[in-house]
Amino acid sequence: MSFLDRVTKVVKEGVGKASEAVSEVVGEAKEDLERMSRIRAIRGEIRDLEKEIEGIEQQIQAVKVELGEKALGLLKSGGLEHADLQGFLERVEELEQQIAAHREVIAEKEAAIEQIKAEEEAEKAAKEAEKAEKAQAAAGPTCPGCGASVPKGAAFCPQCGAKIGA
Ligand SMILES: [Zn+2]
Repeated sequence: MSFLDRVTKVVKEGVGKASEAVSEVVGEAKEDLERMSRIRAIRGEIRDLEKEIEGIEQQIQAVKVELGEKALGLLKSGGLEHADLQGFLERVEELEQQIAAHREVIAEKEAAIEQIKAEEEAEKAAKEAEKAEKAQAAAGPTCPGCGASVPKGAAFCPQCGAKIGA
């Protein structure tokens, strides 16, 4: 074997080993990726299930609210009597009284707003009336000859010279 052949062999062997190592690394990386994507898919399924649980829990809450309303109705009408439940009825009635009191205050405040608005309207109307009165007072008499408006106190019409007054 010539020197060159020996060198070629060594290089070939080296390249072969190197490519083996590379393909091993590539294979491992591929497996890692596959495992990761499997985990990701499973996590997605878990998220979907958790979302479904959330929806079901909301349904349970809705049922509890409905149950509570029904029980309150029965407690109020006397159709349901239970020492443990009486407290709930009292609490709800107390809260309802608070709401009623607030509504009364709101009605008073709304009436106050109406009062302010009425005051504003009355003031505006009074001002309008005053303005109209002043305009009427400022306007002098009308000329009997030509019908022009003549300044107050003028003896003769500035338009046609007719005598004003008498
Ligand atoms: Zn005139």
